[in-house]
Amino acid sequence: MKLQVSGNINEYYVQTLCMLFFPGSKFSKNEKEDPFAPCADVCVENREACAIATVTLSHAGRTATATHKEPCDGAEKVSAERIACGKAFLEAGKALTGITPSWGILTGVRPAKLAIDSLTRGKSKQEVRSFLAREYLVNPKKAALVTDIAETEKRILSGVDKRSCSLYISIPFCPSRCSYCSFVSFTSAKLLGLLDSYLVRLCQDIENIAGIIKHLGLSVSTVYIGGGTPTTLDEKQLEQLLKTLTSLVDPDSLQEFTLEAGRPDTVNEEKLKIMKAYGVSRVSINTQTLNDDVLESIGRKHTAADFFRAFDMARNAQIKHINTDLIAGLPGEGFGSFSESIDAVIRLRPDNLTFHTLCIKNAADFAHNKNRLYMNTFSETSKCVDYSQLSAKNAGYVPYYIYRQKNTVDNLENVGFALPGTEGLYNIYMMEEIHSIFAVGAGAVSKMVSRSGEKIERIFEYKYPYEYLAAPDGAKNLEKVKKIEAFYQTTW
Ligand code: SF4
Repeated sequence: MKLQVSGNINEYYVQTLCMLFFPGSKFSKNEKEDPFAPCADVCVENREACAIATVTLSHAGRTATATHKEPCDGAEKVSAERIACGKAFLEAGKALTGITPSWGILTGVRPAKLAIDSLTRGKSKQEVRSFLAREYLVNPKKAALVTDIAETEKRILSGVDKRSCSLYISIPFCPSRCSYCSFVSFTSAKLLGLLDSYLVRLCQDIENIAGIIKHLGLSVSTVYIGGGTPTTLDEKQLEQLLKTLTSLVDPDSLQEFTLEAGRPDTVNEEKLKIMKAYGVSRVSINTQTLNDDVLESIGRKHTAADFFRAFDMARNAQIKHINTDLIAGLPGEGFGSFSESIDAVIRLRPDNLTFHTLCIKNAADFAHNKNRLYMNTFSETSKCVDYSQLSAKNAGYVPYYIYRQKNTVDNLENVGFALPGTEGLYNIYMMEEIHSIFAVGAGAVSKMVSRSGEKIERIFEYKYPYEYLAAPDGAKNLEKVKKIEAFYQTTW
């Protein structure tokens, strides 16, 4: 997509607006690059105490222009410019494409943040909903959803101990690769052969980070083992990891211990017994859809029957909470079969349900086909997302966390639902950046949060397992320890 931006507006924000109408776009200023690419020309200026934005969008021989004027004072200048630009963009975008984005001009990964802030400042839920609809042009249904989530999160976050933290453990290995996967995840036999040495290094790093957490006087309230698919580990490897973790984390402070057992083809009774014995309190058993043809076409290597078996095993193992993920908008899946999957999964009564919208990132196998995918699935996917949320609510679930990603159809959301009292705490803590998340393993990112909550600093591990293993452990760990100590000294 060709993009020209002038005036006082952040270009990244403008790119996000472009993707509401042209999802998956790559940006360029070079007019010769692709004569058929859509174009956006954006100008934002300040005149007479107003931010004035003019947006011209062109595609396929058609052009639409809109201008919006937003009053501002000194304190709200940035916000007024963004709002003016967003509103002009939405008007031009709608005239050109017919699309009305359901989240209006509310961009960013964490749509609940604004609603939590408003509730904290004493606004009623009705006032927050009206504010989102009026100022950000959020569809009333989405405004109600995010306000409900903000209310639940605010209640849960109010009880969080300031000196708590969470621990994330990365197992970036899977038994095979799903075609929509954009994670760094290793599947070939050669790379799976790294697992034993990966675990040795990982356990050393867990020991180191546990030492730092103790030294800082923090307590671990949630542990999350994610991936990849952590149940790619065999029984012996799983026990080795859980034994190390539980020997280092104080069980009295631990509120939640999650392990992603995402792929039903990697779950068995023995592994679940080991998880239960070491105190795992939440597992994800995911199917994404129960349509066997779709499962096969996306390379999931399991059937709906395998999912039901794995789910039953987890229930029989008496793991406290089970989460199940579903994805709306998978290629080849229509509303009919997706709604049947929703109904069947809800009948199982998992404690948590997470509804994702398909997101095509560049790493996914079918990224080259993304424009066709977006267009084919646009209205169907919105219907699937609406149905999933309505069905969960009607079945007694409450929405408790939400996030958005770029490059999803209609910029649709991912929402976690829970039976009341079973909310996945790590998801809320991580999304709302309430406390530090210390992360170990290849591809992991630690996120440190200051006492005031206003400062965030990230520490990145080596991305790939072979880099992680090849690196001299001492140097990287020393650097990490120094960064963590310096952050806590200056911000706590
Ligand atoms: S199970 Fe998840 S991490 Fe593994 S290949 Fe599939 S999408 Fe990627």
